[in-house]
Amino acid sequence: MKKLTNDFGNVVADNQNSLSAGAQGPLLLQDYILLEKLAHQNRERIPERTVHAKGSAAYGELRITEDISKYTKAKVLQKGEVTPLILRFSTVAGEAGAADAERDVRGFAIKFYTKEGNWDLVGNNTPTFFIRDPYKFPDFIHTQKRDPRTHLRSNNAAWDFWTLCPESLHQVTILMSDRGIPASYRNVNGYGSHTYSLINDKGERFWVKFHFKTKQGIKTLTNAEAEAIIAKDRESHQRDLYNAIEKGDFPKWTVKIQVLPENEADKLGFNPFDLTKVWPHSIVPLIEIGEMVLNKNPENYFNEVEQAAFSPANIVPGIGFSPDKMLQGRIFSYPDAQRYRIGTNYHLLPVNRARSEVNTYNVAGAMNSDTYKNGAAYYEPNSYSDSPKEDKSYLEPDLALDGAAQRYAPLDDDFYTQPRALFNLMNDNQKAQLFSNIAASMDGVEKSIIDRALAHFEKISPDYASGVKKALGL
Ligand code: NDP
Repeated sequence: MKKLTNDFGNVVADNQNSLSAGAQGPLLLQDYILLEKLAHQNRERIPERTVHAKGSAAYGELRITEDISKYTKAKVLQKGEVTPLILRFSTVAGEAGAADAERDVRGFAIKFYTKEGNWDLVGNNTPTFFIRDPYKFPDFIHTQKRDPRTHLRSNNAAWDFWTLCPESLHQVTILMSDRGIPASYRNVNGYGSHTYSLINDKGERFWVKFHFKTKQGIKTLTNAEAEAIIAKDRESHQRDLYNAIEKGDFPKWTVKIQVLPENEADKLGFNPFDLTKVWPHSIVPLIEIGEMVLNKNPENYFNEVEQAAFSPANIVPGIGFSPDKMLQGRIFSYPDAQRYRIGTNYHLLPVNRARSEVNTYNVAGAMNSDTYKNGAAYYEPNSYSDSPKEDKSYLEPDLALDGAAQRYAPLDDDFYTQPRALFNLMNDNQKAQLFSNIAASMDGVEKSIIDRALAHFEKISPDYASGVKKALGL
């Protein structure tokens, strides 16, 4: 029989009755086991993520099946390479206890434990986003969260913001389409969403978008189907993912990229770094490069899912950033959120720790459990050959930039072409769902805001506007 101990290994003789003066109390302050239990319980929760608080994750691997060495020298993307990973799915707006089957974007955050350090691709199940400047992000998220006075979610705030920031219309159309409530996490596509760069061994740069196409097929829920599920099960996506993996039905995604040589970025006719737009497949075709599988559940939800910390700042040689303003905002805000949420040394936790060598001069800090192994020096530069040194051969090729510093409004105000392309792809049933989902989400919205929305829908397509009007009973 294992002996029960406290956190420091001291054996516990009685775990049912606290130490008291006499049978009817009061308790004695010296009952250190009682104090430890109560104090630890008070600290069991860490701040939940401001966004993407409710999630599910699983381990798996990425297998590269095609030779794309002409685009990138990244080891993780070379043909035949197999890389372990963890993928966390999430809803965005709800709190940690929110129901899974809600209408929302789904997070699709992958951490690849590569031989050259961690590479995090922190995407969504949508190829686009609501905004294209991180300056707007806190305001946008306020409209998705609770009103500070009523503590209620507000359709009015959401539609007020969306209609005043019409760059959101593309993402709103995706969110309100049939794909806005996936049947499960196994039935969603994933997108890196941002434009990133690939760099080959000749120092040539290519702009790239990453796509993960579900092999389980897209499956979705109507509002009514989702409501019936939520009434009985708030954890439907967690349950589905966990059970599928436990019974060996491992979900898989085909991995594809779109690639544009650095000097062909203007081929698109719009800013290739605009997160509210996709790269049309007819201009930049998809190239299949491999397969991703999820095959192992975490052992401990808190340690491996709640404390999993993803950041688009984690990048490896051969994969780089792009001028996408939203990406640059996230390069700051994700690690900042993790330091606040988990702590300075969050990178040392097993789920976050690189599986390749880490030789950093960042030391100490709360909860540091690392073994210092940098040789004679604890600073850089230094004179000691056994201490780690920088290596300039890893510098990225020059990226030409120009322009005077200013708070520029985006040059492009075409908010309608891509939502129109999506609308035109939908069959009648999907259009009917789009109209009724929008109408349902406008419950309680002021008339002037509905009118502003209808004016935008009219510019996407008169059929879009008239469909929503009819669904609203106008
Ligand atoms: P294509 O016909 O080549 O591609 C259409 C894409 O739309 C497919 O990837 C399809 O995904 C996806 N799709 C279909 N219905 C929905 C939906 N309700 N929500 C989100 N995605 C959906 O056309 P284009 O490349 O010219 O793009 C046309 C429109 O398709 C875009 O304006 C955009 O809204 C949407 N789209 C485009 C993507 C891209 O990277 N080009 C990616 C995703 C969407 P699947 O193959 O899994 O069915």
